[in-house]
Amino acid sequence: MLLPYEDFARRADAIRGKINAACAAAGRDPSEVELLAVTKTHPAAAVEFVARYGLHSVGESRVQEGVDKRAQSTAAVRWELIGHLQSNKAKLAAQHFDRIQSVDSEKLLNHLDRAAAELGRTLPVLLQINAGNDPAKFGAEPADAPRLLEAALSRKNLRVDGLMTIAPLGATEAETEAHARRTFDHLRALRDDLATRCGVPLRELSMGMTGDFAPAVAAGSTLVRVGTALFGAR
Ligand SMILES: *Cc1c(COP(=O)(O)O)cnc(C)c1O
Repeated sequence: MLLPYEDFARRADAIRGKINAACAAAGRDPSEVELLAVTKTHPAAAVEFVARYGLHSVGESRVQEGVDKRAQSTAAVRWELIGHLQSNKAKLAAQHFDRIQSVDSEKLLNHLDRAAAELGRTLPVLLQINAGNDPAKFGAEPADAPRLLEAALSRKNLRVDGLMTIAPLGATEAETEAHARRTFDHLRALRDDLATRCGVPLRELSMGMTGDFAPAVAAGSTLVRVGTALFGAR
């Protein structure tokens, strides 16, 4: 069940306040950090809330769910795929999403590049990196990131905006927090290194979710992906 708009707006205000506070503490400009509303499992009306509040983009985990929801929505938002993408769905994803955040293999890169070429468009992507070395998570290994980036930069129909990661959970709250800090610092350092080495800005650092967006902002996140704190438990 979707919560009332007023509750959503109060939640969004609170999250934005926390992002701004984390920016102030880190000496960052709050306009550098976008709040991406994760609408997965929620109805198309959730997307209308996002637009009405003035946020610019929504995140979906599953291709077909995003495609269906977008068809039901008239909201002027950008649609970002944040969930794992199989190569056989690359074409559908390239057709219906404005950006793919979960690119983690050369095989997938090739499928997306071909699909974008057929569609006559340039497809923006982020490379998903398993920066927390979590065995349960998707994402390219950090050691493979340079090769994956080189491959992505050589594909004519893709534009690499930056990197994305998901921090592993710990057994305790303190452990989860420590994992988050380590993971986000790692992704930031990797981005800085790759940007210098390859001479590309890689401006976007997509990191932080409901449980860890404040440390992500402290570490340099430019895009926090928040679902639960905006819409309630799924
Ligand atoms: C579901 C999801 C989110 C949002 O998670 P919350 O904890 O509900 O904020 C963010 N990123 C990815 C990749 C997700 O799958």
